[in-house]
Amino acid sequence: MSIKKDKQILELEAVSKSFNEQKVLDNLNLSINEGERMCLLGPSGCGKTTALRLIAGLEIPDKGKIFINDFLVSHDRVIFKETAERGIGLVFQDLSLFPHLNIFQNVSYALNELTKEKIKERTSYLLDCVGMLPFGKKYPHMISGGEQQRVAIARALAPSPKIMLMDEPFTSLDNRLRDEIRDLTLSLLSEEDTSVIMVTHDPEEAMKISDSIALMRDGSIVQRGAPYNVYNKPVDSKAAKFLSNYNKINGKVNNSQTETPFGLFMTPGLQDGLIAEIIIRPQHLKIDFDRNGKGPSPTSEHGIAARGKVVRSRFLGKESLVELKMEFDQSILKASVPGVFLPPYGINLWLSVRRDRCFVFVKD
Ligand code: ATP
Repeated sequence: MSIKKDKQILELEAVSKSFNEQKVLDNLNLSINEGERMCLLGPSGCGKTTALRLIAGLEIPDKGKIFINDFLVSHDRVIFKETAERGIGLVFQDLSLFPHLNIFQNVSYALNELTKEKIKERTSYLLDCVGMLPFGKKYPHMISGGEQQRVAIARALAPSPKIMLMDEPFTSLDNRLRDEIRDLTLSLLSEEDTSVIMVTHDPEEAMKISDSIALMRDGSIVQRGAPYNVYNKPVDSKAAKFLSNYNKINGKVNNSQTETPFGLFMTPGLQDGLIAEIIIRPQHLKIDFDRNGKGPSPTSEHGIAARGKVVRSRFLGKESLVELKMEFDQSILKASVPGVFLPPYGINLWLSVRRDRCFVFVKD
């Protein structure tokens, strides 16, 4: 879904939060627009769930302001609007369905301001959307985990929240079900014009889902942007490494260039003597066959090729991953090739680098 308006619906201003003296959020600034779908992405423990819980009003910030729909809902340690008054829907792992209510009652729970007829209409509509209408009279323990998750999504959507907060909502589902439920949820959220903040530690999922990604580390946002930009222009080496599988090679900077077994890399702006770290995604290593011990002829695009011995080849579904032990330093580099390509153990292959797709950073 595209972002329809540029009216801000949520803003966190310099929000900090500690637990037992451990700073979990450090001056966090974040905003999303109406209709935007944003993923908070980051490694385990970086503070994603805490940020979401603060927005939901399930935690109290130590410092900072949170605005929802132009209302100041909390400021420093003062809460002005409780969770129920914030106009948000929650799909959290630990907010399971009410066990003593049936599926219909679980979804209609927050609709008590509507007439009986309207409640029935809205609940039936949402249960139908998530394919759970025939299960209305069953209780949560009588349905599967995936079915419970669908009901939880319908329940969160029932009162037409302006913002939906979702914490790893699909991780407990198996792959096939995850794709199905994710697509279903996203189309429902688009239909209802709901803004979304979703927490995930899975970059692929974040890219599939969001209009924008806020990459978190150690309680702060280190990069924010469209998935394409975050993936293709990572702000630093940690971001590049977090966003996908990678290989790295190091070299010493000399005269704005860095010499590597794959040839010279331009490293403008890096001081002489520093160690440059070149990050290469597996799909950007090109494999060539050994021609009687001679590599492929170097091209300006791919520079010099380096030789390695195949130590493992695996088919991963859409692509094959080939691991090579490199002659130059015995390190292992991973190259991925679309489709089926499974060279046998022990044969020599040549690797070259798509240098326009590499990332160069100063080694930490
Ligand atoms: P994950 O992806 O593993 O869920 P996360 O990025 O969502 O991680 P948080 O759940 O926000 O991270 O936790 C950040 C840090 O804050 C962790 O070190 C966690 O142990 C700590 N923490 C979170 N909630 C509490 C709490 N209520 N009391 C004490 N420590 C907490």
